[in-house]
Amino acid sequence: MQEDAYLKCVDPNCGLEYPIENTNVQCEKGHLLDVKYKNKPSSTLKEVFYKRRNSEGSIFNESGVWRFRELLNFCQIDTENIDECSKYLVSLDGAEGRQSKPYHMSKAAEFIGISSDNVWLQPEGYNPSGSFKDNGMATAVTHAKMVGAKKIVCASTGNTSASAGMFAANEGINCDVYIPAGQIAPGKLSQAYQFGAQIVEVDGNFDDALKQSLDDAQNHDGYTVNSVNPFRIEGQKTIPFRALEYLNWEVPDWIVYPGGALGNTSSCGKALMELYEWGWIKKIPRIAVINSEGASTLSDLYNGKFEGEELRWNKGNPNTELISRYYDHLDKEGIRPKTKATAIQIGRPANILKGLRALEFTNGVSTTVTDSEMLDGMSVVGLNGFDCEMASGASVVGIRKLISEEIIKKDDVVVGILTGRQKDAMIPVDYHRNPENRFSNPPKN
Ligand SMILES: [Zn+2]
Repeated sequence: MQEDAYLKCVDPNCGLEYPIENTNVQCEKGHLLDVKYKNKPSSTLKEVFYKRRNSEGSIFNESGVWRFRELLNFCQIDTENIDECSKYLVSLDGAEGRQSKPYHMSKAAEFIGISSDNVWLQPEGYNPSGSFKDNGMATAVTHAKMVGAKKIVCASTGNTSASAGMFAANEGINCDVYIPAGQIAPGKLSQAYQFGAQIVEVDGNFDDALKQSLDDAQNHDGYTVNSVNPFRIEGQKTIPFRALEYLNWEVPDWIVYPGGALGNTSSCGKALMELYEWGWIKKIPRIAVINSEGASTLSDLYNGKFEGEELRWNKGNPNTELISRYYDHLDKEGIRPKTKATAIQIGRPANILKGLRALEFTNGVSTTVTDSEMLDGMSVVGLNGFDCEMASGASVVGIRKLISEEIIKKDDVVVGILTGRQKDAMIPVDYHRNPENRFSNPPKN
């Protein structure tokens, strides 16, 4: 095996490096890590990826994640050797990412106020566990298996626990899911229960649950699969890879995501940085991150709404004191993230620094939308025959808002990511029962 892949601290002033087998999610000074590759993959691989769409019986070609395995080859295997793929790469029988690609949705385009030819929406909810998380879980659990982990660990109230539980069950390893005691409706964890995960209740809030899960992972031989894990980010790079491939590698002007823990923003930024560095793309799409109004940490800090300073990556010298003061302010005022779009109900985005790096590289923007707007976005996606959760509606109405503000131009090409499938049956029911909602279709009698 060649030593091509390694881990490196994201802070350019620190830059500590570790072998790829390292399982700490931070450097010893507490900074996040990146997976780095020494080799530059040749752009002739575009042809290989295209051919693999005819899978010829290989689940690793069928997989929307592993089809791009040369661009995330941290296992450093011979990617054409099927035995090596089978030995190392973890897959839900090729199903992760298999059904996700960008679509035109005419009713959504009309609502957004853009030509249907110019806007693409990519549903990630058709992944096996129902959200984009399966992209990154395939790679994180691959690394867990590579280092011999017997148990994966996460803090989650929904999509992450579902995905982790599903992969753990498939691989025959244990999975612990940490939640704040008494604060989570049991229904939100139904998939985790179904897949046999062990629920661990922690006194405190979600941040406390995450902290304890990280501590326990470190002290009791667990392997953390929250998005602070750099290998999660590797798998999530395939979301923009698939979008770009379906656009024949003609780079859109914008890629738009809902903003929660900012793992997607981080992975999209890393994917674009690598493709640009490798000479695969000449133009860099701008990333737009859409926060909920009730959980708007990134938008507040990025747009200078706290202390008047616009927080930036600043070439690796972000003002982390400003972030700390913002969190202190939230604590002091008793402000909790509050939105019905629970997938992005996050006050302290774990990947904020990687997210800022992505926004700086892509000249990105961040804005907020209301719960009622997200419900409209979710509902109009439904009218095109696609199912998505409320947080995904943020991408649709975020594009709409940025067009109305003339930040996105009407002739720009835009890809919006729909991160997950509907998991709360009552949200659309309640929406449609209320005749005042824009797209509602109340029952007749
Ligand atoms: Zn460091």
